[in-house]
Amino acid sequence: MLPKRVEVTEVGTRDGLQSECRIVPTADKIALINAFIRAGIRRLEVSSFVSPRAVPQLADAAEVMAGIERVNGLTLACLVPNRRGAERAAAAQVDEMVAFVSASESHNQTNVNRTIRESLEGFRDVVDIAAAHGIVVHGAIATSFGCPFEGDVPTEQVVGIVGRMREMGITGVTLGDTTGMATPPIVTTLCNAIRAAHPDVAITLHFHNTRGIGLVNVMAGLQAGIDRYESSVAGLGGCPFAPDATGNICTEDLVYLLHEMGIETGIDLDALLEIARGVEPLVGHALAGQVMKAGPRLRRYSMDAVRRAVG
Ligand code: ZN
Repeated sequence: MLPKRVEVTEVGTRDGLQSECRIVPTADKIALINAFIRAGIRRLEVSSFVSPRAVPQLADAAEVMAGIERVNGLTLACLVPNRRGAERAAAAQVDEMVAFVSASESHNQTNVNRTIRESLEGFRDVVDIAAAHGIVVHGAIATSFGCPFEGDVPTEQVVGIVGRMREMGITGVTLGDTTGMATPPIVTTLCNAIRAAHPDVAITLHFHNTRGIGLVNVMAGLQAGIDRYESSVAGLGGCPFAPDATGNICTEDLVYLLHEMGIETGIDLDALLEIARGVEPLVGHALAGQVMKAGPRLRRYSMDAVRRAVG
C-alpha cells in the first residue's frame, strides 16, 4: 500500500546552493522561495546558520528568512550546527531547527571535526534553545545509506543514532544519502529497522541521484510506507567527491512521479516546472532536472518542425 499523500520538502536553497560556486543574490533566493510557496510547497529547508566563513553561499540566512511571505501551514527549516547557530535561527524565527550528524565516524569527523558522540551531545544545546522559543527540532543523519570513507554503514548504527535523538525528544528524522550510495534493498531494510525500533519517529528520506537511482529509491521508500521526501528544484546541488556527478533528486521529477502514481502533494507541477526553468540562469550552468526539459508525458507537440528520428 503506497501513501495517499506525500510531503515534499524543497532543499534547493540550502543543500543545493551550498555546493554552487556562484553566490546567488539574497533577493533571488527570496523570490525563489516565495515562488515555491505559491506553487504549494509547505516545507522548505531555507538555509543554514553555520559559520558564514565556512559556507559563504548561505551567509545571508537571516535576511532570506526575513523576506519570506509566510502562509498558514508553512514550515521553514534551517540547519543549525551548535548553540550559536540555534540562537541565530531562533532570532530569525525559523519553525524548525535541523540538527545534523553523520552515521559514520569518519564522515562526521571530516564534516564537523567531532565524534558522533560529541555531535549528539551538542544537540542538547540546540534542543534547549529551541524549546525556550517553542521551536521544533528535526534530526538529520548524513551518510545513512553508506559512507564514502567506510563503505556500508551498519543498520544498527543508524537505528542507535535515531534512538539517541528520540531520547532528546526529537521525533522527526531525515535519513540523508549524502553521496548517493542508497539502493532499494538498503532503503527497505533501514526504514523497516528504524520503524520496528522507534515506531513514533517520523522518517523523511533524502536521496541523491549520484548513481542514477534516486527515484528508484523513492519507490522503495513509498513501498515501505514512507510519506516524507526531500528534494532540490531542477536537481540543484552536487556531490563533493565527484565534480561532475549530480546531487539531490530533482523536486519537479519527484512531484511528476508522485502525481503519476496517484499520490497527492498539494503542489502545482506546472508552476514548479516554470520555477525550475529559471534556476539554471541563476547558477550559470546546466542542471540535471529532466521533466523541466521534456515536459510532462501528455505534453502535446506540433507535428510541424519535428526532427525525424528512428529508433
Ligand atoms: Zn542532499
